[in-house]
Amino acid sequence: MTMREDVSTPRRTKEIIQRHGFSFKKSLGQNFLIDQNILGKIVGAAGLDESKGALEIGPGIGALTEKLAQTAGRVTAVEIDQRLLPILKEVLEPYPQVHVIHGDVLKLDLQELFANEFSGCNGVSVVANLPYYVTTPILMNLLEAKLPLENIVVMIQKEVAERMAASPGGKAYGSLSIAVQYYSEPELVCTVPHSVFIPQPNVESAVIRLKVRSTPPVSVEDEAFFFEVVQASFAQRRKTISNNLKSRFFPGEGRERLESLLGEAGIEPSRRAETLDLQEFANLSNTLLAAGLK
Ligand code: SAM
Repeated sequence: MTMREDVSTPRRTKEIIQRHGFSFKKSLGQNFLIDQNILGKIVGAAGLDESKGALEIGPGIGALTEKLAQTAGRVTAVEIDQRLLPILKEVLEPYPQVHVIHGDVLKLDLQELFANEFSGCNGVSVVANLPYYVTTPILMNLLEAKLPLENIVVMIQKEVAERMAASPGGKAYGSLSIAVQYYSEPELVCTVPHSVFIPQPNVESAVIRLKVRSTPPVSVEDEAFFFEVVQASFAQRRKTISNNLKSRFFPGEGRERLESLLGEAGIEPSRRAETLDLQEFANLSNTLLAAGLK
């Protein structure tokens, strides 16, 4: 194999893009990484080795894919933009352990993909510089599918990373924090300057690691109902939990029954949803479920 410069060097990235006449599509969240240091941090945070697999979402021209191929035993990358396929074929030609799938990750059967792609692997992680316009649906799909995942290490919008990792009490804490923390332990790896991308995105970015939990940290009788209660509790952030739940579960009724159920769950009715931790939301949804409010 002839020695080639890494895909992610600004020079090689520009050369590849120009030679293939590629033009960036903003609508697909195309901001490619051109920084070795950040790529190293992303791959390092995933804890990969040759026995493990990596699923990349949106390989672009293969900057991160190449680094993953040098670390993991198996790499599968799903790319929606057909124009990138010939580029990926060329760039990843030295790496037979990489498989590129043309498709929309939101439409793929993830269980089937895992069974087909990673059957021999000793653990799989998702590693990606995500298209920001679909960050939340992609991550929630991955988490809700209960895949045999170790870590999800992703570059996302900084503000979304902060919401995912937020603790109760602050402005950033909301239904996204609760959903992500129910399925995983989030940890901010680093914040990232605009200069590591081409073209540069308009928003600030950060790398977050979600260590996927094998079992949830709280006991919830009915998950769908739990998330419904969380959504309802945050319906209007400035309202108390009692007012939000009343609109959703007790329209037209008196307040006494709701307040007595809140008391049973150990929650003061005048509190706001942003002060409740996971355990309290679990108690609340289990209490409302037992009272037949589903
Ligand atoms: N991984 C590359 C890098 O870091 O340089 C590119 C990252 S770029 C932020 C996001 C990539 O996701 C683009 O290549 C884009 O075409 C692709 N993409 C966007 N929406 C997608 C979807 N729904 N399914 C799969 N890939 C998608």
